[in-house]
Amino acid sequence: MRKRILVTGGSGFLGSHLCERLLAQGHEVLCADNFYTGRKENIVHLLADPYFEVLRHDITFPLYVEVDEIYNLACPASPIHYQFDPVQTTKTSVHGAINMLGLAKRVKARILQASTSEVYGDPTVHPQTEDYWGNVNPHGLRACYDEGKRCAETLFFDYHRQHGLDIKVARIFNTFGPRMAANDGRVVSNFIVQALRGEPITVYGDGSQTRSFCYVDDLIEALIRFMGTEKGFTGPMNLGNPTEFTILDLAQRVVELTGAKSKIIYLPLPENDPMQRRPDISLARKTLDWEPKIPLEQGLAETVEYFRKMLGS
Ligand code: UDP
Repeated sequence: MRKRILVTGGSGFLGSHLCERLLAQGHEVLCADNFYTGRKENIVHLLADPYFEVLRHDITFPLYVEVDEIYNLACPASPIHYQFDPVQTTKTSVHGAINMLGLAKRVKARILQASTSEVYGDPTVHPQTEDYWGNVNPHGLRACYDEGKRCAETLFFDYHRQHGLDIKVARIFNTFGPRMAANDGRVVSNFIVQALRGEPITVYGDGSQTRSFCYVDDLIEALIRFMGTEKGFTGPMNLGNPTEFTILDLAQRVVELTGAKSKIIYLPLPENDPMQRRPDISLARKTLDWEPKIPLEQGLAETVEYFRKMLGS
């Protein structure tokens, strides 16, 4: 059955892949984006589809549309971008959640929140399970994002308890793939772009901090499966790849894969940079019958291809 689906942040990295997949499934997709970090290039290939519609809209303002489902992805997600205007970042998460929950309430839509592994802060529990409450500095440089997303989770669960809203809260761990922005400072895009330009690879700290990288197609599959779970199954649910790598290891793999002549240089570790991060995805495995399928090497190769084309190298 064709559904009308709103994707906020629909022209961003994850949003554009999600819109594409939902259209391919035969749904009608309304993409709302203020184009702060979302890019038209990400969705230009979808514009000819009569079931795809784009709205320039900032979710800190109310939105009146009629839809069956809402994926709330809108928020700058990389440290460079979310720290550029931290007050606006918190507003996007908090006012944005209130507006989208209000919309979901009015039209009785199911609503999925793109929450984040950042709700765990610099975790003292490893790997992170959903019942861990986190270790977040409430006034550090990352707080605008971390606390904004935590408050959005609070709002989702209160709308669920107080108004019976049909909510899904996904905690998304580091994801990578084509359509990441070259300039957003994320580690995978930084390293690949640096390698392709023959520039030094900038490892922050000694590179012993860890992350677990999920390829975008795997993540999108999980989001759609989660949205399809029965009413009352709210999460929060970790979504990501549980295979953990150090940042130095990632740097070496990117150099090998691209055949770059770049050398690795070490720069200071940013404030409150989590030392380790790996999702426990038992809940997703059990509930969604899902686990990531695409190994890091394959995902990196696809991403390198994308950036090669983009940079013309
Ligand atoms: N990082 C790095 N070099 C870079 C960019 C990032 O060593 O050029 C490190 C960063 O300090 C962090 C990890 O890579 O430990 C992941 O950073 P990213 O910004 O991609 O995501 P997040 O910190 O939000 O997980």
